[in-house]
Amino acid sequence: MFTNNKIKEIFSKTKEHCHFCGDPLILEKYGWKDLDDLDGAWETDHIIQKGKGGRKEAENCLPACLRSNRLR
Ligand SMILES: [Zn+2]
Repeated sequence: MFTNNKIKEIFSKTKEHCHFCGDPLILEKYGWKDLDDLDGAWETDHIIQKGKGGRKEAENCLPACLRSNRLR
């Protein structure tokens, strides 16, 4: 898990938007679990997948909305 500072760092990389679809995200909805209220909900996406040597660090992550991250 990331500290709040790291979460904000990742969140600001895309100016608070999903890096797949560009939808606006809400900082407080990081790690959101309510699938009936997905607007603005997001999690981190690994730029380089862990299986390919990507590291589990903020530098290797971008924000992705739940829809894009789960459904792609
Ligand atoms: Zn998205």
